[in-house]
Amino acid sequence: MLNIVLFGPPGAGKGTQAAKLIEKYNLVHLSTGDILRGELAAKSTLGLEAKKYMDKGELVPDDVVIGMIEVKLDQNASANGFIFDGFPRTKAQAGALDKLLEKKKTAISIMAALEVEKQELINRLMGRGKVSGRADDQDISIIENRIAVYNRETAPVIDYYSVLKKFRPVNGMGSIEEIFGRLCITIDQENKKK
Ligand code: AMP
Repeated sequence: MLNIVLFGPPGAGKGTQAAKLIEKYNLVHLSTGDILRGELAAKSTLGLEAKKYMDKGELVPDDVVIGMIEVKLDQNASANGFIFDGFPRTKAQAGALDKLLEKKKTAISIMAALEVEKQELINRLMGRGKVSGRADDQDISIIENRIAVYNRETAPVIDYYSVLKKFRPVNGMGSIEEIFGRLCITIDQENKKK
């Protein structure tokens, strides 16, 4: 199986690139942000609870998102592999993901980490907010908080995968096609080793 953690700060282009990668490599896309927005749209208890955190740009508690991923892994038992987008966002989530994959006799292949300058992140998020209508993309103070939360709570996940020799930095500046090309080179290098 090819299991990729597509990593990076908010606005790095994870969702855009994940959509292209699942086509090329025949993988299942698991985005915790998308799943949470789906729960919110359905007005489920989980969605309404998560909204309190999402509206402020804070992280939803680990046990909630880990439980969601567990359900999705079970629902896609015959998948060729997964692209994890926006998950794991804490070291605790990374550890829990390893345990879930171990139960399925598989593991993370690599963490492809998109690197983008802060001003470019803000420009992309504000631009997306105008089109998507996402409240957390339209308010500069929420955007700033999401980037701060990323630096404080999520960036340490890089250490987790570095120790396992799975961390692969990828330049996330440039056009969508340029960045996609870089990601494919990184993934193909990994595939060749198998
Ligand atoms: P995203 O679509 O990945 O930008 O996520 C939007 C919001 O959903 C985040 O700001 C968090 O409030 C919440 N969220 C998404 N994924 C996670 C996660 N893995 N852990 C905690 N909160 C998350």
